[in-house]
Amino acid sequence: MNKNPYYKTRKISNIFLHVNEYGDFLFSPLKKISCVKSSKSSFFNDYLDIEAVLSSWSKRFNGNWQGPHTHIISLTARCINSCSYCCASCAEEGRDMSFNTAEKVIDFIFQIPQKEYFIEFTGGEPALNFEVLKKTVLYARSEAERKNKKVFFSIVTSLAYADDKILNFFIENKITVCSSLDGPRDIHDKNRLMASGRSGFKYILSNMKKLNSALKKGKIEPPNLITTVTSASLRREKDIVDLYLSLGVNRVQLGMLEPIGRARLRKDLFISENQYLDFYRKALLYMLELNLKRGIFVYEKGLYLILYDILSGFANSKRSLDVFHRLAYSADGKIYPSDEARILGGGGDDIMALGHVKKDSFRQIIQKPETRFFLAYNLNAYLSPLCFRCPYSLWCRVPIWHNYSAQNSLWGNMITSGRCRIMKGIFDLAFEILFSAKYRKAAESWIQNAQ
Ligand code: SF4
Repeated sequence: MNKNPYYKTRKISNIFLHVNEYGDFLFSPLKKISCVKSSKSSFFNDYLDIEAVLSSWSKRFNGNWQGPHTHIISLTARCINSCSYCCASCAEEGRDMSFNTAEKVIDFIFQIPQKEYFIEFTGGEPALNFEVLKKTVLYARSEAERKNKKVFFSIVTSLAYADDKILNFFIENKITVCSSLDGPRDIHDKNRLMASGRSGFKYILSNMKKLNSALKKGKIEPPNLITTVTSASLRREKDIVDLYLSLGVNRVQLGMLEPIGRARLRKDLFISENQYLDFYRKALLYMLELNLKRGIFVYEKGLYLILYDILSGFANSKRSLDVFHRLAYSADGKIYPSDEARILGGGGDDIMALGHVKKDSFRQIIQKPETRFFLAYNLNAYLSPLCFRCPYSLWCRVPIWHNYSAQNSLWGNMITSGRCRIMKGIFDLAFEILFSAKYRKAAESWIQNAQ
């Protein structure tokens, strides 16, 4: 009997991918399939089973959600670097967060009924507001102890400094470091020079050595490094991956250049969607071959998160869904659904501001229609007509701030969206990997072993 299967189909290379409403998928040489022709009979249903859809959403989006666990605090708008594509348009001068405001941010965060909180310090360069950073860590830790909660810290820092006391503080306080390294020195220095005009590359390398030595002693979590892919990165994918491995980093992150802040003025740094996808594919295939042929464990964070979601049925908490997973706080205490929204606010456009830590409680924030709008937008796959028909909609997300920055629209127009084209290409690659027995083995080891 041919039941009434509802599924979405996409041709990838010479095979058809079929995805149903619950996130089950199968490959077939046929464009149209039926339960007779498929060995996976559970893929089909006589009708759209709303209960099953709700239960799969509840699993995917944590039906017991109580509030965001990740909180991104901008300690200063000042920076020691002068990156040509800085999304926050940071400079040597700028506003710092006062400790009074930082305390209010921590008090706000601890109103959220979570057991664990992840606090990420960012800037500008947060290490420039070192005294407030130190006091805020101590205050958050004492509040966590008083309330019997757990708190974890990370910091987004350039590492382009020679001051050991900063790095020692991170190590002693188990603060996970996230930094940026665009590749070998010629690539990195092209866009990420210090405000003095000098290179910070050697400091990053020496600080990474110190962090790795602390990691080996079990004192800290592995540091993260992010590459921003620009025109300078093209054809250098192997050099970038090899550099990361030489620094002991096996989690490579190949981020797109975002059209916010100073980057908007540097059209020469942007590459086309096809160029990005070509670069991304080559880098991924190189990493997969290193895994398979040389036994070197290395993976790309973005693709790992996508594969995790597809294979596990859960939305990985590191996907950073706005409001659902994270909130961000500006140096003057304003609350935003994401750090990018906070950056837009810093540029004078407060369209996404949700409130202020000195005026609003978490309960008030969460009840605001604008907060609920950002929360609901995480289901944009079901809100945009094009996404609804796309087989990747269960796992894909084009952030609202991106639509707003790139297309001047909160909803975005996926027909003309460059981000949509990139996401389609990345999902095609993810499913090509899952279709290939050889590569799937490596991808599954990422899911088991990635941190
Ligand atoms: S943004 Fe594009 S790739 Fe993503 S779900 Fe929508 S149509 Fe599909």
